[in-house]
Amino acid sequence: MIIGMSFIICTFIFTVMIAINYFAKKHVITIETKLYNYILIFSLINLITELILCTNIILRVELLSFYNLLVNKFFLVTLFTWFTLFTIYIVSVSNFLKTSKNNYKILIIYYFIVAILLTFLPLKLINEKGVAYSTGLPTYLLYGVCVFYSVLWLVIILKNRRKLGKKIIPFISYIICFALMLIARVIIPGLLLNSFSSAFATILMYFTIENPDLRMIEQLNIARDSAEKANAAKTDFLSNMSHEIRTPLNAIVGFSNLLLDDKNIPDSSKDSIKDIVLASENLLEIVNGILDISKLEANKLEIVNNEYDFNKFTNELIVLSKGRLGEKPIEFKTNIDSSIPKVLYGDVQRLKQICINILTNAIKYTKEGWIEFKISSVQKDEVCRLIISVEDTGIGIKNENIDKLFNKFERIDLEENVTIEGTGLGLAITKKLVDLMNGKIVVQSVFGKGSKFTVCVDQKIVSNPTIKLEETRNLTPVINIINKNVLLVDDNKINLKVAEKLLDNYGIKTESVDNGFACIEKIQSGNKYDLILLDDMMPKMSGVETLKKLKEIKGFNIKVVALTANALTGMKEKYLSEGFDDYLAKPINKDELNKVINKYLNND
Ligand code: ADP
Repeated sequence: MIIGMSFIICTFIFTVMIAINYFAKKHVITIETKLYNYILIFSLINLITELILCTNIILRVELLSFYNLLVNKFFLVTLFTWFTLFTIYIVSVSNFLKTSKNNYKILIIYYFIVAILLTFLPLKLINEKGVAYSTGLPTYLLYGVCVFYSVLWLVIILKNRRKLGKKIIPFISYIICFALMLIARVIIPGLLLNSFSSAFATILMYFTIENPDLRMIEQLNIARDSAEKANAAKTDFLSNMSHEIRTPLNAIVGFSNLLLDDKNIPDSSKDSIKDIVLASENLLEIVNGILDISKLEANKLEIVNNEYDFNKFTNELIVLSKGRLGEKPIEFKTNIDSSIPKVLYGDVQRLKQICINILTNAIKYTKEGWIEFKISSVQKDEVCRLIISVEDTGIGIKNENIDKLFNKFERIDLEENVTIEGTGLGLAITKKLVDLMNGKIVVQSVFGKGSKFTVCVDQKIVSNPTIKLEETRNLTPVINIINKNVLLVDDNKINLKVAEKLLDNYGIKTESVDNGFACIEKIQSGNKYDLILLDDMMPKMSGVETLKKLKEIKGFNIKVVALTANALTGMKEKYLSEGFDDYLAKPINKDELNKVINKYLNND
């Protein structure tokens, strides 16, 4: 008896410690945690009641006294309450019964009937050679209920094993222990296992499911998962929208550019066409900006480092900026450090994007004077620190506005700004890209006089380059294209028309098909082309699949360029890795098209 009692005392102390720890911590409140509160409380009550019963025996309180009978019956009822709570807990975790008011009513009626029976059925108390235990109808009823419950637990748990996942382990371990204890109790009636059994399950549940910290983590994981899902849905939505917007935009940009070059169009209409070109280019910039910022915020934009030709990089920026100056009375000065190695290692696309953003801003916010594009360097060991600055004599920025510059959608509230197109995304993207490259960006500005944006990024020096250095060609106009034949593959008829007309301007012959099967057929039946421009997103067979099939054709060696409105960041790399020779985003940019034509169709 003393050994049994010390065992219960130890269990009681341990359960009290767990209860203190449990109730002292912040909880996530759910039906299950609420149920666990009661399970914990009733487990303590069971232990206390069993301890009182043992003390009664040690103090030799008369076995059949009203007080002893009362404590015994109370013990049976609290044990029954604990088992019922535990059953409801399992039902709730596994969502076994749909919670309707009727279910609860039935449960309450059942609980009271059994509790009343336990209280009023005659109980026998036996004390044989110092071993005391209860027997009689209430005890048998409780045994019956316990057996019924354990079968129910097993059925529920096994039926819902997938939903329960790891939670199944404590339940199954408890059911096994419970069954063993029940058998032991039947064989040796005096064994003090009743309150221990409930305490054991309570402790097990605390360590595996109901620990408030675990619950918090579980809740955080759920919140993180749903945030990630929402973010993925947003990125999917944006990428689809981008594709959908780019397709009609391709037609607008393509046709309006063609009309601008058309000699039959009167000058009076050309101004309107120029406005269409500007507006559509602006719309395209917005689509690209929104895509980039959402990718950056979802941490989905990765830096892709490669070897690159530094002179080509600066020349492209200079040609582009000079083109964007238009007729503004601005002198464009350049100052590029000639000691910078010819081949560097870094993400040239992103670096270009950073430079284009600050160069375009300088052009946008300067009416007259000059703009200086300067790149200096500090070289140490294998690293070349590029210090890129763009200085202008433009409208300048007030000191109090400098901090706001890098916030997304933030445009400085100025009269001049109202007339200048912009989304307020450019510098936010620039800053995030510079951060991603572990670089720095600083702004110096005197309001009314001008601004200077300086970007510092480290690039690796490549001592044994694997890339071929290109001579810088003047990209426009493209010359020396004779008798070239290009196959266009696109499911969108208008896109085909745009591409046909654009290539026609260069005197290039085109043939068009609107699906991958027709493209393969053309090649299989021996038609010869100098280049294939292949759209990716086509029904039935995508461009990527078409290319795979083309490459299986014996002797196939035509260069294939992906022509797609899928212009998410990293797409160029994706298409190149799929086996395409190059990539053109829709709407087709004239300079990019020139590059492709120069590279693959020039007779030189
Ligand atoms: P956007 O140019 O589309 O408005 P940005 O994020 O590129 O968006 O720039 C944010 C704001 O910073 C601009 O609206 C403009 O007021 C200011 N800004 C940026 N560059 C310059 C500059 N070179 N000179 C004067 N103001 C500038």
